[in-house]
Amino acid sequence: MKKGLTQILLIMMFFALPGLAFAEPAVWKNHSKRLELSRFVDYLQEPSDSVSLDSVRQLPESEWRPNGKDSVSLGYGDDVYWFRVHVRNPGAATDPLFLEIGYPVLDHVEVYLVDDGDLLASYVLGDKQPFYNRLIYHRNFLVPFSLSVGNNLSVYLRVDTTSSMQVPLTLWDQDAFYVAEQSRSLFEGIYYGIVLVMILYNLFVYMAVGERSFLHYVGYISAMPLFLASLHGVAFQYLWPEATWWNDQAIIVFLNLVVLFGGTFSLRFINVSRANHPVLNRLTVSLIVIAGVMATAGLLVPYRLMILPTILVGFLGCTTMLVLSIVRWVRKDPAARYYALAWVFMLFGGIVLALSKFTMLPRNLLTENATQVGSAIGVILLSVALADRLNKEKKRAFEAQQRLLQEERKARMAQEKSLRIQQEANTLLEQRVQERTRDLESLNARLRELSATDSLTGLKNRGHFDRAFSSAVVKAYRFGQPLSLLLLDIDHFKKFNDVYGHLVGDDCLQMVANCIRQYVTRPQDLAARYGGEEFVVLLPDTPEEGALRVAEKIRSEIEETGFRVSEEVLHLTVSIGVCAVCPSQADATKDIFCWADEALYEAKGRGRNQVVASEPPPVQGAESVIT
Ligand code: GH3
Ligand code: MG
Ligand code: MG
Repeated sequence: MKKGLTQILLIMMFFALPGLAFAEPAVWKNHSKRLELSRFVDYLQEPSDSVSLDSVRQLPESEWRPNGKDSVSLGYGDDVYWFRVHVRNPGAATDPLFLEIGYPVLDHVEVYLVDDGDLLASYVLGDKQPFYNRLIYHRNFLVPFSLSVGNNLSVYLRVDTTSSMQVPLTLWDQDAFYVAEQSRSLFEGIYYGIVLVMILYNLFVYMAVGERSFLHYVGYISAMPLFLASLHGVAFQYLWPEATWWNDQAIIVFLNLVVLFGGTFSLRFINVSRANHPVLNRLTVSLIVIAGVMATAGLLVPYRLMILPTILVGFLGCTTMLVLSIVRWVRKDPAARYYALAWVFMLFGGIVLALSKFTMLPRNLLTENATQVGSAIGVILLSVALADRLNKEKKRAFEAQQRLLQEERKARMAQEKSLRIQQEANTLLEQRVQERTRDLESLNARLRELSATDSLTGLKNRGHFDRAFSSAVVKAYRFGQPLSLLLLDIDHFKKFNDVYGHLVGDDCLQMVANCIRQYVTRPQDLAARYGGEEFVVLLPDTPEEGALRVAEKIRSEIEETGFRVSEEVLHLTVSIGVCAVCPSQADATKDIFCWADEALYEAKGRGRNQVVASEPPPVQGAESVIT
């Protein structure tokens, strides 16, 4: 009874848990284009003693486990796995097919095609083989074969890899594969094209503007596609087809560089500094340092040891950047809006990829390409954000420059105004100075005039006469011209003074001076008061005859001019000595004066009130001029 119950339970479990059942064969229908094989896959962990196809085929069926999922994904581990899938072609045609293993970083893949128990063909694939060892030069592993009508083909795969144990198997009609490949290539081309343009654009912007954020950004958007290209086998195909060791390490190096540059870029771009976010800043900087160390270690330490910590760093990096962007967004950093949005897209891809690697998400076209789509959108958004920031900074700089220009203009205007005021002040000052100078000059002239003038009579004084006399003698000597000197003395003036007093005497002196002035009319003639009641008249370029005529006119004028004192009209007379010479030497002034004085003395002696010319003519110093 108990035994029967156990049997029933076992049978129920057998039907209730399809996972325990073996996978059915995959049926390749007529005109199929492609067939995902994941659901039809059985797998087993390689026992330590069964390393050949034969030994594996001899294992009991119960060792095999059906995959039963839409993806074959067994995570990371050191174990070697065998996979098996049966394919049947019930149709009427034989199609050339491809078996595609769509995970290009698998290290060693052995493929065995078995037809009704007979080994048809076997291939060794994997990225530990140089790229050109492949049957078909494609980034994924492709095995060509044809499925004849009614064929029951079994495909065995032995996979030994340090990467995640993902074995996505697809059966393709070859024509359909090439058609689908066109869209895939176009898709990849667009992605790498976008990224390449962005790298170049931002590099040029950096070179033009010198803003460091652009350089960090270029680092970030260079590492990102290189990482994806390594992961998707594109880099192996086109960049390093022979470098089988590096092909694995590249994933480690570039993923860590993505975190490193993503971190440095974020810190700068959304301004997470030690001052405003000390904890986040320290966290990000530590992550950057760890990513840097791991990127360097990726050049030396095997992939097997590095991949899990690297994925952890990548995951932490993505999360940190997202947190940073949200925090900065909340703090109203305008740059953080774009940034957060970009990170949402990129993280979407990153997180989906990480989850699929840890088998938490199925591996399919979306999970594999999510990174590229997210990263392309993110790259464009960040570039827009950078440009936006640059624009804002340019605008700010422009405004600052405008303000500066305005200030400068104001300053210049103020300077011009003060200069104008200064100029006006200078002009005014100059005018004043000129006015003062003119005043001073006229004052000086007046002073000179005064110092040369006799204050009582208004004639020139003796000092002036002396200077004028000697220069007139020099001139007459040089040009051989005649020169006359009249020496005039009022007769009996002492008596006059004694009788009428000195004040009346002074008035008389003025009257005499007026009479003299009337007949001294030529510009170069000069009348002066010599002292007391003696006057001199200098007549340059005048011979004796002319001098006598002038002297006579003066004499008679004075004689005739009445001078009223109280009721009485008085008459004065003068005696005049005349000396007319052509000087024979330049310093003949004394001689000339003496001869005039002698003539005057003679006039006094002859009874006064008369004109006497000097006689006999002087011999020394001058010649008498008699006409
Ligand atoms: P003579 O005919 O010989 O010349 O007799 P005189 O009295 O004029 O003698 P003299 O020529 O020596 O005259 C000098 C006198 O002239 C002395 C003084 O009384 C008078 N005198 C000289 N200077 C002035 C003066 O400035 N004002 C007045 N009022 N008299 C003067
Ligand atoms: Mg006298
Ligand atoms: Mg006299």
